[in-house]
Amino acid sequence: MNKRLRNIGIYVLVVITVIFIGTSVIDRPNTENATKTLRYSDFIEAVQDKEVSRVLISPDNGTAQVVENDGSRSEVNLAPDKDLLKILTDNDVDIAVQPTRLSSPWQQAFSSLLFPIILIGALFFLFRRAQSGSGGGGNPAMNFGKSKARLQMEPSTKVTFADVAGVEGSKLELSEVVDFLKSPDRFTAVGAKIPKGVLLVGPPGTGKTLLAKAVAGEAGVPFFSISGSEFVEMFVGVGASRVRDLFEQAKKNAPCIVFIDEIDAVGRQRGAGLGGGNDEREQTLNQLLTEMDGFEGNSGIIIVAATNRPDVLDSALMRPGRFDRQVTVDRPDYAGRLQILNVHAKDKTLSKDVDLDKVAKRTPGFTGADLANLLNEAAILAARRELDKVSNDEVGDAIERVMAGPEKKDRVISERKKELVAYHEAGHAIVGALMPDYDPVAKVSIIPRGQAGGLTFFTPSEERLESGLYSRSYLQNQMAVALGGRVAEEIVYGEEEVTTGASNDLQQVANVARQMITKFGMSEKIGPVALGRSQGGMFLGRDIASERDFSEDTAATIDVEVSELVDVAYKRATKVLTENRGMLDEMAQMLIERETIDTEDIQDLINRSEVKVANYL
Ligand code: ADP
Ligand code: MG
Ligand code: ZN
Repeated sequence: MNKRLRNIGIYVLVVITVIFIGTSVIDRPNTENATKTLRYSDFIEAVQDKEVSRVLISPDNGTAQVVENDGSRSEVNLAPDKDLLKILTDNDVDIAVQPTRLSSPWQQAFSSLLFPIILIGALFFLFRRAQSGSGGGGNPAMNFGKSKARLQMEPSTKVTFADVAGVEGSKLELSEVVDFLKSPDRFTAVGAKIPKGVLLVGPPGTGKTLLAKAVAGEAGVPFFSISGSEFVEMFVGVGASRVRDLFEQAKKNAPCIVFIDEIDAVGRQRGAGLGGGNDEREQTLNQLLTEMDGFEGNSGIIIVAATNRPDVLDSALMRPGRFDRQVTVDRPDYAGRLQILNVHAKDKTLSKDVDLDKVAKRTPGFTGADLANLLNEAAILAARRELDKVSNDEVGDAIERVMAGPEKKDRVISERKKELVAYHEAGHAIVGALMPDYDPVAKVSIIPRGQAGGLTFFTPSEERLESGLYSRSYLQNQMAVALGGRVAEEIVYGEEEVTTGASNDLQQVANVARQMITKFGMSEKIGPVALGRSQGGMFLGRDIASERDFSEDTAATIDVEVSELVDVAYKRATKVLTENRGMLDEMAQMLIERETIDTEDIQDLINRSEVKVANYL
């Protein structure tokens, strides 16, 4: 977590609360249906029978609206019962308090029941956590707390374009939006229509939120934000009213930016959701469209939305006059990463030996958020090591930490396990190092991290990453490298002794092989066709569910082809490792002694060994 974020946490909490109170209609559900009145005792009984899912308590604690599991609504007059909250939380009822509008939000905040109830909620939460161990799914007290954090308003974000680095193209496109906000008259004078919506598209952590804030900051206008998933998670029937409320607030504060994060959560194609339509979401989306159409040309409100799934968005959102501008925010390239590192290095004390240029080179594929996180991790490590400056070692460790999770140095490992992991990793590393045209090995480690017992790091080439183009021989090498771990185990311990430690590797091999055949057209029998329509296209490395559009026969051929590819890779890995068995033993020994070895150690080893680089193809 961002340090600055944590520091202003309390401030934000207060602001959220205040805004929440300021926008009074938010949690008021449809009252038309709430005709039935329950007796208090019946209500408690229903709660204890777990028939009640939600309760919305009036501000004076006098009445509550009750939503039962089947969706039916009723009202109850509350008795002054101090055990009520406990009964509700114990029975997994979602609790909320209906806010009211008073003259001053501050006065309201301090005089209302909100604060004490938040406190009680938090206590219950802790209490229940303590009681039920760590498995606290669907905790009502937690929902209760979460339901407060909705619409946020920042009068001035204090973020400028200078804070966002390495995405020059996106900034350029957005600087136009800043101009619209700053001097709308210039545009209307010549009859230009100002765009209403801008859609920022890009993977998580690339700085979309930051960019939206920077637009507000540069233009000096307030920044309203809400997240799409929050529209949807809310009480039934209020998503649409919350949208209305959001725009009401925005109109009062125009010119301003309204930022809708994760818009895909509301903006999915209507009627196409899995498991039937989601009425709530459709109503919310319709309301959003209505609002966008409603405000005329130059209302001074520009809506910026962010998503990493543009493919699932309802096409109605993209029509002219809605989100008709799209700005792509990509992962930064080398130059971009360097700029981002420089931005985040400003508030850190780095020692002279830290070369950000090298760091940028070592981190292809990292997003802005990853890089910010990396420097922060490095600073934390330096503080733990009681240094007054962050040195190269901390930065190096932080890179690995961000890539693979923290090392678990204190975990006790038996000698036998250590040896096994050493052989396994050495197997990956040697196949990788000796295959022609493969990424160089950066480091091999047998210190467990995350789920992994040990790790071999390769330095992927920037060019390959950037172009996304992988040759057939590269992919074949990749499969052999991934199998190298298991093969080493087999060679050293015999086939009977192999472990489950390679399951991840095997998964990876199977994926590569299948993709080569069904996606990249690299199979002779099947030919250059793509099989399996993917839903939603290839975007941003998510798993894509694909639909089968080929025959049983083809499916059988694919299976045969996959196992052939894997078989070849397996044979190649076996050949490399048996022919260089001495090197395998030596590297495993080095690992057992030192736990980590790096590029130079491996190069040394290769130089002094009699390497058999026979034809491994
Ligand atoms: P997104 O909204 O795309 O998921 P964020 O804007 O929330 O990403 O980025 C998270 C954090 O990562 C930012 O607060 C910032 O510290 C850092 N960051 C991301 N991209 C950049 C960038 N281009 N320049 C500087 N910092 C960045
Ligand atoms: Mg974001
Ligand atoms: Zn492995």
